[in-house]
Amino acid sequence: MWSPRARGSCAALSWRCVVLAPRCPGAASRLRAAQGHIGGDGVAGERVVDEAADGGPVRRVGLLVHDERRDGLVVVAPGARARDVHPAARATVLPRRLVQGWYLPDDVRAYAPGAFPVFDRVGDVTAYGFPTVDGATVKIGIYTAGHPVVHDTDHVPLTVGRGLLDHFHATVSRFFPGLHPDPVATTVGVEGYTTDGQPLLGPAPGTPRILLACGFSGAGFKFAPAIGDVLADLVDEGGTARDVRFLAPDRPLAPWPPEALTPA
Ligand SMILES: Cc1cc2nc3c(=O)[nH]c(=O)nc-3n(C[C@H](O)[C@H](O)[C@H](O)COP(=O)(O)OP(=O)(O)OC[C@H]3O[C@@H](n4cnc5c(N)ncnc54)[C@H](O)[C@@H]3O)c2cc1C
Repeated sequence: MWSPRARGSCAALSWRCVVLAPRCPGAASRLRAAQGHIGGDGVAGERVVDEAADGGPVRRVGLLVHDERRDGLVVVAPGARARDVHPAARATVLPRRLVQGWYLPDDVRAYAPGAFPVFDRVGDVTAYGFPTVDGATVKIGIYTAGHPVVHDTDHVPLTVGRGLLDHFHATVSRFFPGLHPDPVATTVGVEGYTTDGQPLLGPAPGTPRILLACGFSGAGFKFAPAIGDVLADLVDEGGTARDVRFLAPDRPLAPWPPEALTPA
């Protein structure tokens, strides 16, 4: 969600822990200042992931944008870890685990682009996927009744259990002819879900210089360009012409029930 429109800013992006705009003068000290600002507002859960060039620690919380012209404005986009990082997300953004599988076709031509669509099937089964990308396997995501809650985002369960594999097997056997129903690979991902399925986007309640962008509820990838544009507006202009009030982090939003938020 970095935008070059945020001129005069420097940023740290947690993806491979790359510091963007490294030639930005004083980047390290400004990142520390931004971090101090976050800490001062009660954000928790930061991890020291790097040493600054001048030897001091740089703590990064997802994506940080520190705009010196606006006295420590910070964008916090910590993904599924939102409830660990900011109090506004503590009861409203629930981390859930998603598992996807890759399957081998009998005849890969039947699942090639042009023969097989990008699809999102609802009704008899809720599943999505796309044609083979690697010329060998087909990715299918199969919804389960409420993806399991992850209570400790530092220790996400990576084992894909027998019950889930049986569910995948039964679904692929029935709905995807020509695919071997046992996946040759699975991946585990974690995503933060709100109760209304909409993200929290904008100034955090009580700490307006922290801009939250989290709780994308399984849809953040496709909306990333628009979300990034709105964030750039908020950083650059202090507001946006786009009507994003329905995403405001301080909107009335039902919290997740306590039994969902704490392990049994
Ligand atoms: C399996 C799966 C399939 C999906 N499919 C789709 C799809 O088809 N279409 C779609 O639109 N969306 C999809 N999504 C959702 C989409 O991927 C997310 O909504 C989107 O990635 C959210 O972007 P983000 O930048 O807010 O968070 P993320 O991409 O999660 O990035 C947040 C980053 O912050 C880092 N971080 C958090 N806390 C700290 C900390 N304290 N210190 C340092 N770093 C920290 C994390 O490591 C992470 O790299 C899918 C998600 C999953 C898991």
